[in-house]
Order: sequence, then C-alpha cells, then structure tokens
Amino acid sequence: MLLILKPQMTKTDANELIARLAWMNLKTFITEDDNRYCIALIHHPDQKINLELFSELPGVEKIVPFKERFKLASRNFKRSRTIIEIGPVKIGDGSLTFMAGPCSIETEQQVYQTAQALASQGVKILRGGAFKPRTSPYDFQGLGETGLDYLSKAAKAHNMLCISEVMDTKEVEIVAKYVDILQIGARNMQNFSLLKAVGEIKKPVLLKRGMHATYHDFLLAAEYILTAGTMEVMLCERGIRTFEGYTRNTLDLSAVPVLQELSHLPVIVDPSHAVGMSRFVPKLAYAAVACGADGLLVEVHPEPNKALCDGQQSLTPDEFAKMAKKCMQLREIL
Ligand code: PEP
Ligand code: MN
Repeated sequence: MLLILKPQMTKTDANELIARLAWMNLKTFITEDDNRYCIALIHHPDQKINLELFSELPGVEKIVPFKERFKLASRNFKRSRTIIEIGPVKIGDGSLTFMAGPCSIETEQQVYQTAQALASQGVKILRGGAFKPRTSPYDFQGLGETGLDYLSKAAKAHNMLCISEVMDTKEVEIVAKYVDILQIGARNMQNFSLLKAVGEIKKPVLLKRGMHATYHDFLLAAEYILTAGTMEVMLCERGIRTFEGYTRNTLDLSAVPVLQELSHLPVIVDPSHAVGMSRFVPKLAYAAVACGADGLLVEVHPEPNKALCDGQQSLTPDEFAKMAKKCMQLREIL
C-alpha cells in the first residue's frame, strides 16, 4: 500500500516515519510526487496489515492500496513521469532520445567511426554489444571487456554516453565499470537474479521486453530492478513473436501508450530488432515517434554488409541521419 503524506511533510519527516515502521519488517520506498512525499510499503501477501493503524500515523493524509501486482513501476506509486538524468541527457522529459550504434563492437575503428558519425548528428548515447546473446553458439559472441573498453573510449572521445548489454550476474560489475546504462536483453527479461543484480548496481537500466512477455510480465520484471534499488529504469519495446514470420518480430506499438499509462517509466522503441530489415526501420521509427515513444534504440553500422551481427537490420550513418531528421520533424508537428 501507499502512504500519501500531508503536503507539509518534509523528506526528513518521511524518513523518520520510515524509521518508526522499521520494526514491522516492511520494505519501504519513498517518492516525491506533486510536491508531496509518498511511502510505498511492501509486505508479504501473508502478512496481516491493519490499515487503520497506518492512517493514524502522524503526517499521513491517506492510504491507497496498490491496484496492480507491479507496485513501484505503477502510476499509483508515481503519477508524474520519471525523468532519467544522466549527465547532460534527460530521458522521459518529453524529448526524443536516440541511442544508436552497432549491434556488436567489432573493432576499435568501427566503433570510433560510428561514434563520430552519430555525434555529428547530435546523438548523445552510443550503443554497442560486447557480450552478445547469440541464438547459435557458433556465431560471433562479442569482444567482451575489450569491446567495452573501445565503446567507452569512443563515447568519451565524442562526448557521448554509452549503453551495452549485460548477460550474466558475473559480468554486471565489469559492464557497469564501462557504461552509463546497463541493457538487459529480451532473452534475459525474466532472469530474475540478473535483474536483482543490475538493480543493486544503481545505474540506469534499459530493460527489453521478452519476446513472449505480456505488459504485466514486463512490468513485473521492471519491478525486480526497482525493488533492488534503482528507480532509473527504461522499458524497451523491441517486437514480440507472433505467427508472422516475414519480419523478425512484430513491433507492438500499443505497448508505447499502454505502458506509459500503466507506468511512469520512460518507454523506448527498438525498431531494428522488431522488424529485422533495414529498409523498414525508418517507417517503424516514425510510427514509434507518433505513438509518443521517449526514445529510439537503433542499430547503425558503417558497413552493414560486413557486420558480424545483425547487418541486415542496421542502417548506415547516412540512412540514420535522414531518419533522425524526419523523426525530429515529426515530433515537432505532433
Ligand atoms: C541487442 O539490442 O543487441 C539485442 C540483442 O536485442 P534483443 O535483446 O532485443 O534481441
Ligand atoms: Mn542486434
């Protein structure tokens, strides 16, 4: 349940209240919304809670039960949209954030060349995979820590932030050492140990929707990261599996407005993995912008036909530039 505090209550008052509740062995989370503090009390379903007891606590204005199984991710907990600030970049503030770069980091030159081209387009976040979740064990698995080193140096050299996927709890600290945003891939959306481990690192996380996950599954996965201690979580729609086999996946655009209504977390769309064919990526990106996406995650490679991974869905820097320009124009019109 949620304790909505009276408007005059300060953060110190809220923390004092949390300290008073410590004996009850409840998990507490605090948020500021509409200039007042709210405390989420998370208790075990078997734990009997007397609501009246809480309404009599000093400073408590009202008690609101959580409507959904996901709590911290819900609009119930936080009515205003979460804005994630990483250095000069703000995600979820109504602007459109681009995260772009190759599927995999292949060489130092490839990632530098991509970073340079994207930075000149105003892109602030460079993507690149170093630990790759490949369907076949015989495919290129990524450069590991060497790749992360290339990625972070290329990003720094071009005044960019960077994002990369972490696949295993054992690698969380290594990846976190190099990147500004940790990515959890679709295949790991319900790897609960990994979700807890990235949450504990307290760095922003981009969580991709599992290919068979419902919105509720997706938000409950986000809840694992939030309850582990990181409120800076982005939800990424990257297409789901349907009966349609022509495209790699089916981009579920309903996810954008629905998730934004159910949750305060920013919603990013990845049109590249959704459709899997570069020629269709721009059209899906425009549609995502029209649906109100907070950002786009796009694969860009200087020479897609030579890419070691996902070249067929990667845009060239020039194609990306044209697409990004149109996306911004579209956003202005809307
Ligand atoms: C990726 O972004 O490189 C990736 C592997 O995506 P997904 O987890 O959505 O398949
Ligand atoms: Mn890819």
